[in-house]
Amino acid sequence: LPSRYMNISKNVWLEYLQLAKDYEPIDLGHGYPDFPPPRHIVGALKYLSTTDLHLHQYTVDFGHPRLVDSLAKLYSPLVGHKIDPQTEILVTHGATGALFSSINGHVDTGDEVIIIEPFFDCYVPLVQIAGGIPKCIPLKPKTIKGDVLSSADWVLDPIELENMFNEKTKLIIINTPNNPLGKVFTKEELESIADLCKKWNVLCISDEVYEWMVYEPNKHVRIASLSGMWDRTITIGSAGKTFGITGWKTGWAYGPEILIRNLRAVHQSSIYTCLTPLQEAIAVGIEKELRRFNDNDCYFKSISRDFAIKRNFMADLLTSIGMKPIVPQGGYFMMADWSSLDNMVDLSKESDVRKDYRFTKWMVKNVGVQGIPPTAFYSEPHKYLIEYYVRYCFVKKEENLKIAAEKLLKWK
Ligand code: PMP
Ligand code: GLN
Repeated sequence: LPSRYMNISKNVWLEYLQLAKDYEPIDLGHGYPDFPPPRHIVGALKYLSTTDLHLHQYTVDFGHPRLVDSLAKLYSPLVGHKIDPQTEILVTHGATGALFSSINGHVDTGDEVIIIEPFFDCYVPLVQIAGGIPKCIPLKPKTIKGDVLSSADWVLDPIELENMFNEKTKLIIINTPNNPLGKVFTKEELESIADLCKKWNVLCISDEVYEWMVYEPNKHVRIASLSGMWDRTITIGSAGKTFGITGWKTGWAYGPEILIRNLRAVHQSSIYTCLTPLQEAIAVGIEKELRRFNDNDCYFKSISRDFAIKRNFMADLLTSIGMKPIVPQGGYFMMADWSSLDNMVDLSKESDVRKDYRFTKWMVKNVGVQGIPPTAFYSEPHKYLIEYYVRYCFVKKEENLKIAAEKLLKWK
C-alpha cells in the first residue's frame, strides 16, 4: 500500500456492514432508506431503459445533457446565479466522486484544509491522499452537558474558527445539513465562515447532500448564494440522498467555471463518464419536481414532512429508554448520549479502544439494534468528546422502527 494510504485502511462502513451481516440486527446504522424510492424515478428508469437504446452507451464526459440542464434550472434561482450547464456542473460517481474531484482538483502537497467536526468520514482521508493537511475544529454544545436538546445548540467557537485560517489554508469543507449531527447552519453562521474565506482567499466545498431534508422551522441556506461566495464555492449534491436511491451512486458539483474545470481535470482521467440511463432517469425526476416546485406535493417538500415524523418517533423512543437525543434540524441521522445506560452494558466483552465502538457492538449482539459509533467522525485528538454518543439513522420504514422500539424497550 502506498504510504499515503497507510493510516486510513480502517473503515467504519466495511466493519459495520459485516457486523450487520453476521448478527442481522435492525440496521439503524447505515444512511439509506429501507423503503422504496418514489415511483416516478424507478418508473422512468424502467421505461427509458427499454425504449431509448442510445441510453445504453457513453454520454457526455462531464454530465448527461438532460441532467446538467435540469440541475442548472433547479439551482440557478436557489443560488442567484445563472448556472451554465456546459461549464459550471460536473456529474460524477455520487457525492463521494464529487468530493474526490473537488479535493484532488484543488489541494496541493502541504495545503491546509479546515474540516468541521463531526465530519462525514471520507473528508479526512481524501485530503490526506491529495497530500493536504486536515485541520479539524469541533462543533461544541453551547449549553451545559445534560441539557443539550437540538443540533442547533452545537456551535463553532468564533475565536477558534478564526485561528484556523492562515496563509497555508486552501479550503474549508462544510456540510449542511450535517452528517451525523443533523445541524443546519444558519445564515449568520455561514456568513461568519464566508467572511473568513474572503479575508484569507480560501475556497469552500459545501456538501449539501441532505439539502431537501430540513425540518421546520429550519431553512437550508446555500453558502454559494451569500455575497461574494459564488466565485469561491463548490457545492455538492447527491441523487442518492435526494431521491432515496443511494445505490444509483450519482452526484454532482456545481460552481464557477474556473473551479469546476479543475474537478473536470481529475474526473476525465479517473471516472471519465457516469451511467447514462441513471442520469436520464434522475433528470426526468428533477424535471417533474421543477414542474410542481411550489406545490405542497413536490417531493422536495413532502420528504421533510415525512421524515420529520420518523425523527420525532426516534427522539421519543430514545428518550423513553433513558438516552438523551440531540434532535436534528435536518438530514437522516440522530445522535444520542447513552451515558446513563453505562451500567446496563458490559463493555469488557469488546476489545475496541473507543467506548462508542464497544457500546454499538454490544448493542448489536445483545439487543439486536445497530447504530454507528460517532468517533468515526472525529479526528484522534477530539474523539474523546463523543465517546458516549451513538448515531442512529431514522430514515427507515415504520415497521422496522417499531421492531427497533420493541427490542430497545424490552431490553430497558
Ligand atoms: N456526504 C455526506 C455528508 C454523506 O452523508 C454521504 C453519504 N451518503 C455522502 C457525501 C456520499 O454520498 P453519495 O452516496 O452520493 O456518494
Ligand atoms: N453516508 C452514509 C452514512 O453516513 C453511507 C456511508 C457511505 O456513504 N460510505 O451512513
